[in-house]
Amino acid sequence: MKLLTFEYEGRVAIGSLRDDHIIDLSMIAPDMVSLIDMGSDGLTQARHVMAATGAGIPLADARLLAPIHTPRRHVMCVGKNYAEHTRESYEARGERIETIEYPVIFTKATTCINGPYDDIPFDAAVSEQIDYEAELAVIIGRRIKNAGREEALAAVFGYTVLNDVTARDLQTLHKQFFKGKSLDGSCPMGPWIVTADAVPDPYALRITCRVNGELRQDSAGETMTFDIPAIIGHLSRGMTLLPGDIIATGTPSGVGFAMKPPVFLRPGDVVECAIEEIGAIRNQIAAG
Ligand code: MG
Repeated sequence: MKLLTFEYEGRVAIGSLRDDHIIDLSMIAPDMVSLIDMGSDGLTQARHVMAATGAGIPLADARLLAPIHTPRRHVMCVGKNYAEHTRESYEARGERIETIEYPVIFTKATTCINGPYDDIPFDAAVSEQIDYEAELAVIIGRRIKNAGREEALAAVFGYTVLNDVTARDLQTLHKQFFKGKSLDGSCPMGPWIVTADAVPDPYALRITCRVNGELRQDSAGETMTFDIPAIIGHLSRGMTLLPGDIIATGTPSGVGFAMKPPVFLRPGDVVECAIEEIGAIRNQIAAG
């Protein structure tokens, strides 16, 4: 099932996608986190509503928001989780390549969540090194702590596409990544959550990023250093994960700052991040 958050005729609601129509699910829950909180009962009710509803709202007539547009807390992210991207990152910074023993974990502020097709603000006075990172994001479906692999996998509610937009200068300037990862609008995601039952092998899905149509990232065949149960295992060790938590699993190689010479996003550029069988998000860089 594809679950989304949409705005239609001045109202924001959750829905599911059937072909190119949205089935309104607002009678089940007021927002996506509340639906996820309901567990399997929420999905069962969604299926019943879909079966009982006619055509629905044409997708083209609605504006899609991030499927979780007001998360409970910061988006959790894994850095350096694809070997080739790890290598290019160390190399671009002139650092010695180190083996990653534990996942690099950082967060993005709740206020940086952005829609799947909305503009990414650009302010040259803040940063001129805005970069993209196409990523598979995992949505947690239940409260878990100290999860083993099986429990971790069972806790996955679904998957979505996320662009971990980064101000490269600010990422290193402040020692911690938080500020450089959290500028307003720097977390476009969507266009919907695909529930876990519809994604039997998330690692097989090709991840791409295009800038103005030019292919920059293409992760077909690149593997994660820490797979999804390992990431959830590390994060949940001694720290409770909650329904609706968003975990970005890392970006493959091909980011702008590792190009020779480095290339950053400029106003007018259009960035499209896509994951096979999930969907594509497309955002324009906008000055102002
Ligand atoms: Mg990232």
